[in-house]
Amino acid sequence: MKHVTTAYQKPIPLKDHDNKPYWDAADKHQLALQKCDDCQSYAQPPGPSCAKCGSQHVSWENFGDDIKATVYSYVVSHRPFLPGFQDELPTIIALAQLDDVPEVKIMGNILHCEEKDVEIGLPIQMTWVDITEDRALPQWIPVTN
Ligand SMILES: [Zn+2]
Repeated sequence: MKHVTTAYQKPIPLKDHDNKPYWDAADKHQLALQKCDDCQSYAQPPGPSCAKCGSQHVSWENFGDDIKATVYSYVVSHRPFLPGFQDELPTIIALAQLDDVPEVKIMGNILHCEEKDVEIGLPIQMTWVDITEDRALPQWIPVTN
C-alpha cells in the first residue's frame, strides 16, 4: 500500500460550532454564509448571534461554487509570517467584496496573479485549494475573460 504524506505545513483552519457550516461547504468547494433570520444580514466570519441585531436566529445559505467578487483592498506580503508560506512569495492577500452580497467581504490569497496586476476593483472568483484529503481552503484567482 502506498504511503501518503501530506506536504501541507500551513495551519489548517479549525472548525468550531459557529464556523463549521462555512468550512463544511468549503470542503465541498462551495460557499455558505450565515444569515440572520430576523434582519436578513449576512455575517462573515460567522458568530453565535447576529452582529447587527443580536438575534440568535441564524441560518445558513449556500451560494454554490460560482462566486464572483472584486478586490476591495489588498496587501502584498514579501515575508512569510507563518511556516509553509515561504515558497509562495510574494503573497497577495485580498479582502474580496462579493458581487452578490456586497456587504460581505472575505479575506483570502489571490493565486495566479502577479503583484503588478492586482488593483482595487479587480474582478476575482473563488477557487478552492485542497490542503488535505478532506479539507479545502477558499482562495481567489483573477477572472479571465
Ligand atoms: Zn440580525
